[in-house]
Amino acid sequence: MISIADLPLRDDLRGLSPYGAPQKAVRIALNVNENTHPIPEVVALDIAASLAEAVLNLNRYPDREFTQLRESLAAYLGAGLTRENMWAANGSNEVLQQVFQAFGGSGRSALGFEPTYSMYQILARGTGTTWVGATRDDEFALSTETAVRQVREHSPNIVLLCSANNPTGTPLTLETIAAVYESTQGIVVVDEAYAEFAGAGTPSAVSLLPGRERLLVSRSMSKAFAFAGVRLGYLAADPAVIDALRLVRLPYHLSALTQAAALAALRHSDQLLYTVAEIIVQRDRLMEVLPTLGFSTVPSATNFVLFGGVDDPTGLFERLLERDILIRDPGIAGHLRVTAGTEWETSEFLTALADISAG
Ligand code: PMP
Repeated sequence: MISIADLPLRDDLRGLSPYGAPQKAVRIALNVNENTHPIPEVVALDIAASLAEAVLNLNRYPDREFTQLRESLAAYLGAGLTRENMWAANGSNEVLQQVFQAFGGSGRSALGFEPTYSMYQILARGTGTTWVGATRDDEFALSTETAVRQVREHSPNIVLLCSANNPTGTPLTLETIAAVYESTQGIVVVDEAYAEFAGAGTPSAVSLLPGRERLLVSRSMSKAFAFAGVRLGYLAADPAVIDALRLVRLPYHLSALTQAAALAALRHSDQLLYTVAEIIVQRDRLMEVLPTLGFSTVPSATNFVLFGGVDDPTGLFERLLERDILIRDPGIAGHLRVTAGTEWETSEFLTALADISAG
């Protein structure tokens, strides 16, 4: 038996651990910001029918250009977008990886405002891109001034604006995004994985796309759409950006089954997104109740809440796990992160937390 250390591995990968939250079979999993509401049965049946039809043609490669899916995604986002503006891959993680492959790489750099989505740094490493961990203001906010100053200072090839930001929940204003765009010649990615939880009427960075050819807005069906298991992330940008991504994608990267499932889900977007309002209610309940238990909260435009004032994050994480409740320790001193689940899951979490705190 040999171990990884015995292999002729790339030097820059030696000693690293793979990314991934603990995957445990628990009663209540509030650790990876999924939509914890199951898919409505009528929708599930229609998706299954679409899959069955696709199965009949699995002897053939899928549509490499996933034309119908790009059309449906453009229609979902609206804002005058057409399929020429759209791209998709197996989760927004893969979309982002392709962005790094096309615009990052050896001798190039990518900048994000930490703490932020930790995959960015891992994608940078995997593609030989230098990672620049820029900083935020108090309470994890990011002002235009703080963002622009650091982008100017480092002149990165890629800027990652996570809005709303994981793991803090912090949204960015369109003014900040537009100012960052003006302050760089590089690619600016706005990661809107949690956009649907921002609340009706909250503008998306999609509205900034016209005339900004280096701006990319990435989205995911893993969160609000309750479709994490399918792996479908997508991106809206200028058609030239889509052409650049074609240079690095693997041929037929989106399977016929993925395309069929995502197309069927988009036909039912109203029903799948029906639970978003309820999740927002539970998120706001977490924001209200956590302070009464002695914790601080960070304003969130997502389906999760980062809470502070935790004396022993590892200890509290473990005590909750003993009760079969799994949340996330994002490695921020004194903080833990919890996903807003169903009303019942949220109640179970808050009751357990009150119990542990009282004990
Ligand atoms: N961006 C952010 C900010 C995320 O939190 C996540 C998932 N945790 C992703 C992208 C990736 O999501 P997926 O690959 O499932 O689309």
